[in-house]
Amino acid sequence: MTNCIFCDIAKGEIPSQKAYEDDLVYAFHDIRPLRPTHILVISKKHIASLAEVSAEDEAILGRILSISHKLAADHGSAEGFRAIINTGRIGGQEVPHLHLHILGGSEPVGAMVSKN
Ligand code: AMP
Ligand code: ZN
Repeated sequence: MTNCIFCDIAKGEIPSQKAYEDDLVYAFHDIRPLRPTHILVISKKHIASLAEVSAEDEAILGRILSISHKLAADHGSAEGFRAIINTGRIGGQEVPHLHLHILGGSEPVGAMVSKN
């Protein structure tokens, strides 16, 4: 166990509803879904936020984005989804481990920029 809940989830030390996994990322269903589809994609490496990434993390960042549509489509949101990375206190980030929210469902999510 570490002091980071998402590191523990990526290692399987805290249970999660897994949606996808490869060498760089792990994806699971959000415990408090805001939409019918609400998946989190996290880096297996501990990166605190988008404010902490470096050039060596580009492959991880690319993977997080490049798998997002297939993940959304595989979970009922083939026609579109919203991808959000909350960053820092001002950005509304609660868990300090880089993660992409994939939000989708059968209805448009509206014009808001927030995850709500
Ligand atoms: P953020 O505000 O961007 O840091 O989002 C953190 C997200 O993690 C929230 O949507 C939470 O519902 C979600 N979350 C926190 N703990 C867990 C957990 N153990 N399993 C699944 N999702 C979680
Ligand atoms: Zn972590």
